[in-house]
Amino acid sequence: MKTEKNPQKTTLIYLLISVGIVVLLNAFIFPAFLRPQITEADYGTFLTQVEQGHVKSVEIREDEIGFTVKDEKGNDKLYVTGRLDDPELVDRLYQAKVEFSKVIPRENSPLVNLLLTWVLPFLVFIAIVQLLSGRLLKKLGGGAGPMKFGKSNAKIYVEAQTGKTFGDVAGQDEAKEALQEVVDFLHNPQKYREIGAKIPKGVLLVGPPGTGKTLLAKAVAGESKVPFFSISGSEFVEMFVGMGAARVRDLFKQATAKAPCIVFIDEIDTIGKSRNASGGGIGGNDEREQTLNQLLTEMDGFDADKGVVILAATNRPETLDKALLRPGRFDRRVPVELPDLAGREAILRVHARKVKMGEGIDFNAIARATPGASGADLANIVNEAALRAVKLGRSHVLQSDLEESVEVVIAGYQRKNAVISMKDKLTIAYHEVGHALVAAKQSHSAPVHKITIVPRTSGALGYTMQIDEGEQVLMTKEQAFDKISTYMGGRAAEELVFQTVTSGASNDIEQATKIARAMVTRFGMSEQFDMMALETVNNPYLGGDTSLLVSAVTSAKIDEEVLRIIKSAHERASRILEENKQKLHELAKYLFEKETISGEEFMAVLGA
Ligand code: ADP
Ligand code: MG
Ligand code: ZN
Repeated sequence: MKTEKNPQKTTLIYLLISVGIVVLLNAFIFPAFLRPQITEADYGTFLTQVEQGHVKSVEIREDEIGFTVKDEKGNDKLYVTGRLDDPELVDRLYQAKVEFSKVIPRENSPLVNLLLTWVLPFLVFIAIVQLLSGRLLKKLGGGAGPMKFGKSNAKIYVEAQTGKTFGDVAGQDEAKEALQEVVDFLHNPQKYREIGAKIPKGVLLVGPPGTGKTLLAKAVAGESKVPFFSISGSEFVEMFVGMGAARVRDLFKQATAKAPCIVFIDEIDTIGKSRNASGGGIGGNDEREQTLNQLLTEMDGFDADKGVVILAATNRPETLDKALLRPGRFDRRVPVELPDLAGREAILRVHARKVKMGEGIDFNAIARATPGASGADLANIVNEAALRAVKLGRSHVLQSDLEESVEVVIAGYQRKNAVISMKDKLTIAYHEVGHALVAAKQSHSAPVHKITIVPRTSGALGYTMQIDEGEQVLMTKEQAFDKISTYMGGRAAEELVFQTVTSGASNDIEQATKIARAMVTRFGMSEQFDMMALETVNNPYLGGDTSLLVSAVTSAKIDEEVLRIIKSAHERASRILEENKQKLHELAKYLFEKETISGEEFMAVLGA
């Protein structure tokens, strides 16, 4: 557990030290400086001094006489002597022309004394420390220091200006476009208010680590020129019970006061974990739930018109509690995916701006060498290259520095298992083109919209997206079969080109089998069973799980029928690819290079 400084304890220690210092001051320092030095003298000495004309002034009190004498240096020296019964004293003083109107400093009233020597130093001391710590904080954090609020000791980071803009975020055009609306709203909330438009309260940035989610959130604040409040979900979980909820409350209170502004909750999955799915960790769940509930309450309670927009980031959206995703909460989702080739090159260039680069650097070559790398990895590569240049005593970065640092950083993520080898990348390219090509060569398939071999948040290594032209409610037997063949296309391409198979088709197998099964058991699309009901859907609201209505013998026959459909779809896919082998190679090469291609590009290469 992280040790948090307890605010009460800190204040107590601080008070004790102050008291100690004031006591020391009073015991040793003040007496020496503030109290006048008074020397005791006998009455005879006093009289001699008076007669000799050394005494400057005299004050007669009830039981003592104080007097000042000018010494050789011309300074007044204070003396005190006991008062004797001396009726001639006044005459003597008069004759010696001693001034006895002037009052010799004496002790102040006890109250004034107390104020001067105890309370005042104490206050001054506190003021100085406050001033120093305030300045220090500002200096350390550059204005973005953690702010502490009230009892909760919340570490909410506030930046009046993040200094980041969309220009600092390379690639991620879709995410930037989606967030532009938020920027626009924060710029000119009046425009939206007048028309009565509701702006999203919460926007969820979803993507793998290091893809620039935090950077994007800061850029939104920077573009809108509004303050940026941020807090990390993982900090909540490490807190004492009740503290997390208090922090959330503080966060929203502060934000509302500073509106328009951005509130950014990083790693929201650590508090927003689905309540029934959060298995492990006894004791921790309670706190998480309280914090989550507080977050939900605050989000419902405040008025988005005020101009507070909440951004949150996660790389595990599937674990989030459904309650967080309801309308009026984080109902907007912005995917932030790993960059493709062009994106990687752009990110390298953005980071290279901050570094002295030599002539003729080939960023494209570096981008090519780093499939699967995130923005953070690429930033790291540029930095490693700069470090290497310094180590080798150069004043600028060369291509070789970049190439070397690719290996250093890639070795780093090979450990993390995130990078894709060139061979795997090629296999994935053929696999995806296999899907796309089979789809394109069948008459009942939806057109290919996009093909990518950039790994997805979902864990997929590649992805072929088809979009139907109109909305479809019904599926024909031909369409169902074409769909299954399309799913077979990935594996079929691997077999054709590499004469082997990989584990990459597991999701295809699952999806294809689902359709084939439904064709047989629910849609009446097999000759063998005609329109016989074989299966029933239990409760469509509970994920639509099904149970068979048939005997074990029939059940085995169903399996055979499903297998027959899948086999014939597989054969068809293989045949299509065999017939279009040249295009398969061409398209796979093209996809391998570009990593993401649109449907138009695909059709252009296919048609040429
Ligand atoms: P995330 O929050 O998604 O884990 P960050 O925003 O913290 O990622 O990114 C870490 C760093 O990586 C950033 O500070 C930036 O230097 C770099 N980076 C990531 N994505 C990009 C991008 N698209 N453009 C420029 N730099 C990026
Ligand atoms: Mg982050
Ligand atoms: Zn596939």
